Amino acid sequence: MKMNNKLRAQHYDRFYRDAESQKFYNSSIWKKARQMKLNQNPCCELCQQEGRVTPTDIVHHLLSIKKGMRKLDLNFLVSLCHEHHNRAESEMDKEKGKE
Ligand SMILES: [Zn+2]
Repeated sequence: MKMNNKLRAQHYDRFYRDAESQKFYNSSIWKKARQMKLNQNPCCELCQQEGRVTPTDIVHHLLSIKKGMRKLDLNFLVSLCHEHHNRAESEMDKEKGKE
């Protein structure tokens, strides 16, 4: 699946340049949790379920930060490859649209 670069850039604008999210992703608590997750699971978990091994350095936060989920729990983190991460983010996007 090829990502539309323009769409992707817009998407990143909305999610990652948001000041509050940015602050969170720059915090040492997030970096620590992210690193812990990667140490535990350095490969995409969804690929693993499909029987593939895809090393990654992306950790996806299952709950939207904006919903007040600030406490980091490794249970809410999942290691994902680029493709699965993009898919997960667009799912979250859809959910956001419903609000
Ligand atoms: Zn994957």
